[in-house]
Amino acid sequence: MQLVFATNNLNKLKEVQALIPDHIQLLSLKDIGCFEDVPETQMTIEGNAIQKAVYIKDHYGYDCFADDTGLEVEALNGEPGVFSARYAGESRDANNNMDLLLNNLKEKPDRTAQFKTVIALDLNGKLETFTGICKGAITTTKQGNKGFGYDPIFKAEGYDKTFAEISLEEKNKIGHRGKAVRLLVNFLNQL
Ligand code: IMP
Repeated sequence: MQLVFATNNLNKLKEVQALIPDHIQLLSLKDIGCFEDVPETQMTIEGNAIQKAVYIKDHYGYDCFADDTGLEVEALNGEPGVFSARYAGESRDANNNMDLLLNNLKEKPDRTAQFKTVIALDLNGKLETFTGICKGAITTTKQGNKGFGYDPIFKAEGYDKTFAEISLEEKNKIGHRGKAVRLLVNFLNQL
């Protein structure tokens, strides 16, 4: 089976590739000649995942799944949430995003947060969604240089290291995207 994973993020591709069984050939957007910005203009994480998957199916004809992820911080009423990528502006710069978040959490004793990934699958004319959540907390400083995005400031519950200090395998085991991908894989294996 061939399936497009609608992302240009090589880190995500690597994470997901490690979890997808060999009989499924994963194609990236580059592989299908898609070099445009796929629209993600919805107001929810789920809405954006669905929008991206449906867009690729409609415009390129491939069965496809897309993910959207947000970091939801309790003391900030769930922000940055669906706005995680552009939290500090259109440059989508991970360091600026983390700096702004750390600054907005200064003085706040409650550091509780969660990553939420929704994967939308557009397969054989049907839509399915799979959600993975990883609960944890925001650190006070950046720690580690693995991973991407907000990884250096997020510690999963029960861990004393950030996502940027643990291996890809460990992150996939406990992380939001790993959980959502395993639900997707279970679904695909039952077809
Ligand atoms: P999106 O899923 O690409 O829309 O991600 C939204 C924002 O969350 C971007 O700023 C990403 O860098 C960040 N993000 C997505 N997944 C992760 C993750 O696994 N760890 C840290 N940050 C992430």
